[in-house]
Amino acid sequence: FIEIKEGLARILVPKAERIYDAPVFYNPVMALNRDISVLVLKILQPEKVLDALSATGIRGIRYALETPAQEIWLNDISDEAYGLIKENLKKNLEGELYEEGDRAYFWGEKLAVANKGDANRLMAENFRYFDFLDLDPFGSPIEFLDAALRSVKRKGVLGITATDTGVLCGAYRQACRRKYLAEPIRGELCHEAGLRILIGAVVRYAAKYDLGVEVLLAYYRDHYFRAFLRLRSGARKADGSLNQLGYLWQRENGEFFYETAFLPQNRGKVYGPMWLGPLKDQGFVEDVLKGAGESELAHKKTLKFLEVLREELDVPFHYDTHAIARRNGLELRKVKAVVEELKNRGYAATRTHFSPTAVKTDAPFNAVLEALKGSSGG
Ligand code: SAM
Repeated sequence: FIEIKEGLARILVPKAERIYDAPVFYNPVMALNRDISVLVLKILQPEKVLDALSATGIRGIRYALETPAQEIWLNDISDEAYGLIKENLKKNLEGELYEEGDRAYFWGEKLAVANKGDANRLMAENFRYFDFLDLDPFGSPIEFLDAALRSVKRKGVLGITATDTGVLCGAYRQACRRKYLAEPIRGELCHEAGLRILIGAVVRYAAKYDLGVEVLLAYYRDHYFRAFLRLRSGARKADGSLNQLGYLWQRENGEFFYETAFLPQNRGKVYGPMWLGPLKDQGFVEDVLKGAGESELAHKKTLKFLEVLREELDVPFHYDTHAIARRNGLELRKVKAVVEELKNRGYAATRTHFSPTAVKTDAPFNAVLEALKGSSGG
């Protein structure tokens, strides 16, 4: 084991050549994911938090040390992980230790609970208990989603990570159908559509419990998706969220269409169903950024990335300048120039975190093509 520092936590992590060979998983690249999660919890101020798939415990420990959370549960099914979580809790939190079977309680300023077991079982045993529930699995979170929606309070918040990007982005189409009951798209829209398919699945799962879903913040980064979703209680809220599901179409030239609908209209090859609503609550993102300025961040890119998310125009999908140029036999133009050109023509346009070469805009496709040609000399 080696000791590392991340945020305010000092934790032991296994020493391994490759992270996936380690007996307990720790990925330093995910410090950005954890930074943003800490910032989100500072704003939401949940009292009871579950880190359902905890590995070394780094996430739950950072929540305990860096956020107002009062009661933090850290769970993992693996023996090695459970042992390490307990070690790391002892390293970071003051308090009395009380152990009972596969569970250890740390009573100090806060209560931290380490648990060894299946996350679905733990969540099923704690019905409507947590204010914030974090799912950070290997691959898809879908197998934990039902129990999570029952274990989080009806007005609570879910933090969901999905690393099965290949599935959601269309490399494994059948797997996307099986797991998310959705048709994924390949090509330049795959990351945004993948994120929207993930959120769409949560909306469908939540609706059966008469729960609506509000997106506080959702993003794609480093080959994973992350979404902070606030639940809203009531059949109407659930209907309201379902009404924001729909479908996406794309032509050979890159032009895309989307339509909120329960069933797709026949307009050629269709992708979805997926979420077509907002990917952020602008006020919430401003608050997160404000918190970021006042916090010790572990990852050097966290602040910059949050700024990109704040500036981004929140409309469905984007035009990738490289893909559109290729599809239409145009010369490449700098994405910055295309953004400026669109703005000069009176449209809203920004860059997007989904791709360094893409533009989000409210301009119609033809105006995007014109801007790519740069006919007003921009
Ligand atoms: N949240 C951690 C972090 O931020 O560093 C990483 C978690 S790691 C990606 C996923 C963990 O889930 C692994 O440690 C694995 O042992 C655990 N796991 C897998 N299936 C589980 C299950 N059914 N119940 C509980 N834990 C499980």
